[in-house]
Amino acid sequence: MIELRGVSKTVDSGGRPLTILHPLDLTIASGQFLAVLGPSGSGKSTLLGLVAGLDAPTSGEILIDDVNIAKLSEDALAKLRGEKIGFVFQLFHLVPSLTAFENILIPMEIAGRRDAAARAKRLLDEVGLADRGHHYPSQLSGGEQQRVAIARAMANDPPIILADEPTGNLDSTTGRLVMELLLQVRRTRQTTMMLVTHDVDLAALADSRLMLRDGRPVKPLLEATR
Ligand code: ADP
Ligand code: MG
Repeated sequence: MIELRGVSKTVDSGGRPLTILHPLDLTIASGQFLAVLGPSGSGKSTLLGLVAGLDAPTSGEILIDDVNIAKLSEDALAKLRGEKIGFVFQLFHLVPSLTAFENILIPMEIAGRRDAAARAKRLLDEVGLADRGHHYPSQLSGGEQQRVAIARAMANDPPIILADEPTGNLDSTTGRLVMELLLQVRRTRQTTMMLVTHDVDLAALADSRLMLRDGRPVKPLLEATR
């Protein structure tokens, strides 16, 4: 369960405070799929970064399974993130000097899992890259790199996936395949998911939708027309 209470973010913009996310309340029950929509610059990535604990809110509380992540030490937060959250980025963010297999190993090695190598093999297989484990990111297509990133995000079987425009850098056919994979891994694991997307058809598949504009929620068209 993810709960946000009065969560806002104000940054310094050339010496002046700029609020990029206005106080927001949001609850996502376990296993639910929330699509986050909105034009570029509306605060979508800011919101995901806050939920991931990659950034601290200016006000409010972010509770992940009843734990207020703003109150955690750096170490405790890193541990919670490693166990509970898988993050998929628009630009994949693989480590270029490591192979696909080694990239998937990283979160499991941090968590000290003994079965890391066997699991990494299974995950590569699950994302359809069983024979590409020894390739470096530069030797893989964008769609393949994103598959590796999805496998890495799922490595510790996190209950939560946060995906920020995961198909934003892929052509539409590849993007659709990557999205199908992400939805499939979510379905098999009953993962809670927050997905930032511009794809209205995809957002229609979600359990609920949050549309942001200038850092504030607005009613999504989809809901308005129902
Ligand atoms: P989105 O993901 O919806 O495109 P972002 O959350 O990345 O939007 O950004 C929201 C707004 O906040 C944008 O106008 C962006 O330029 C601004 N912004 C984000 N981070 C900072 C920062 N650290 N300092 C100043 N402005 C920022
Ligand atoms: Mg963004």
